[in-house]
Amino acid sequence: MDKILVTSALTYANGKLHIGHIAGSYLNADVFVRYQKLLKNDVIYIGGSDDYGTPISLKAEEEGVTPQSIVDKFNKSMRADLAGLNIRLDNFSGTSHQNHIKDSQDFFTNLNEAGYIKKRSLQQFYDASKNRFLSDRLVEGICPFCKADGARGDQCDECGKLIDAMELIDPKSKLSAETPIIKETTHWYLDLPKFENELKDWLETKTYWKDNVRNFILSWLNEGLQERAITRDLDWGVPIPLENTDGKVLYVWFDAPIGYLSSTKEFFQKIDKPEKWKDYWLDKNTKMVHFLGKDNIPFHTIIWPAMLSKQKENFVLPHNVPANEYLTLEGQKMSTSRDWTVWVEDYLQDFEGEYLRFVLAANAPETRDSDFNWKDFQLKINNDLNNVLGNLANRNFMFAKKYFDGNISRKNELSPNAKNTLTEVNDLASEIGKCYANYEVRKATKLFIDIARIGNKYFNETQPWKEIKTDSAKAEETLFICSEILRIISIVASPVIPKSMDKLRKMLGLNEEFFWQNLAKNQHNFIIDEVERLYRKIDDNEIEKQINLLEKKKR
Ligand SMILES: [Zn+2]
Repeated sequence: MDKILVTSALTYANGKLHIGHIAGSYLNADVFVRYQKLLKNDVIYIGGSDDYGTPISLKAEEEGVTPQSIVDKFNKSMRADLAGLNIRLDNFSGTSHQNHIKDSQDFFTNLNEAGYIKKRSLQQFYDASKNRFLSDRLVEGICPFCKADGARGDQCDECGKLIDAMELIDPKSKLSAETPIIKETTHWYLDLPKFENELKDWLETKTYWKDNVRNFILSWLNEGLQERAITRDLDWGVPIPLENTDGKVLYVWFDAPIGYLSSTKEFFQKIDKPEKWKDYWLDKNTKMVHFLGKDNIPFHTIIWPAMLSKQKENFVLPHNVPANEYLTLEGQKMSTSRDWTVWVEDYLQDFEGEYLRFVLAANAPETRDSDFNWKDFQLKINNDLNNVLGNLANRNFMFAKKYFDGNISRKNELSPNAKNTLTEVNDLASEIGKCYANYEVRKATKLFIDIARIGNKYFNETQPWKEIKTDSAKAEETLFICSEILRIISIVASPVIPKSMDKLRKMLGLNEEFFWQNLAKNQHNFIIDEVERLYRKIDDNEIEKQINLLEKKKR
């Protein structure tokens, strides 16, 4: 049995969840976790909100409330949205929760005592009209690498490179739009160059990581690692654990991943096993898998392992970081500031959570950016879910009810055609397992629909509506094979569409708990329970409404 610790990137607590978050780091993690549970592996799924930092502090100032109240509001809305999509973390915490400050300070102290943190005086941008130092995110300008406009002082969204704010071309304060002045201050730096050789050796063992992730890291390492500031001037954050440090707090990129650890501790405290987090974090056999979007790759493949490796405790390092690329919306880059996105909360007002799971899984941006658009959403639900999978279930069950009172048994030796069909289906089922294990949700989703297509083709070719008149045993064989195909689908598709697959199993008269190993079990009969439609069709006007809404709210 494998022991697996799965995380979704912490979501910044200054807004609600949108489909980009779900496609980037939640759905893929949830599918993986569900698959591991089907294999009976020991898996926990951890996440939360990233609560500190400048945008939240500014928003609180704007609205005249405390930062904590903003964070609490969005943390709560994230939980509700995840529940609506049936994404089930074992613990969804937040970095403003109880354990986190102490854990983050310990990380700082251990790195500092081991000689991996440097103190430096430096020049920093200062907005004279607002009387405050500008953190990197509060400065925008032209990217020194790709020359894109609107690069932030910490990172360029266009090329993904991390930036030293001082290198921005034509910098402007985001607070006032003025050109900031430069003033001296003190900050603490993580000495990344000191980790370089160690990291290179470690990363060389990660030959099994996804190509997009490996390429990203290699280009980073080839440019040479830079020291990186881990403190900033702000009152909303984790204070650094040193005397006389004058209101410096840890940078969110430093303390956020520590949130995985503090959330794990919180989880085991809640279930009254406060020491059990060690079974995962301190056991070399644990496979720690971080799900995230590509902007988070350097933090989780370079900085986070570096931080983990110099602690007093022997922490496990990431086993895999299956980062996704970006999701676009109607062919355009998603943007929350322009409100060019689909908020999960809005989506759930109009549609089933299961449908979004299916469409985002079928379009998962695993190897390159992929697009979400409403027409395609409608097409996938109506064609793949309704006309292929739903139809196979419906025609088979209706027929079984009408002619066999819902009682379908396997009789005699199966015909060669029936046997071949089952073999084909079983081969695809085991391929689907490999896809899940390999973070290929998109392919897995295509393959389980392919299995339903095989079922429909078989049903059409054997023509049970004719068979029933001449040879009812042959007709029953057809229904038995189709039921068996549906049983197999109910297992292999369950990580992606768990709710409708539970419904399908109930209709098949299968009520017991099931695991991946049940695939191999030969079912001998099915007692078809009450039949209802698995899915509904999406009308054109529902889709027009969504497209109009998008255009209307766009800024
Ligand atoms: Zn750039």
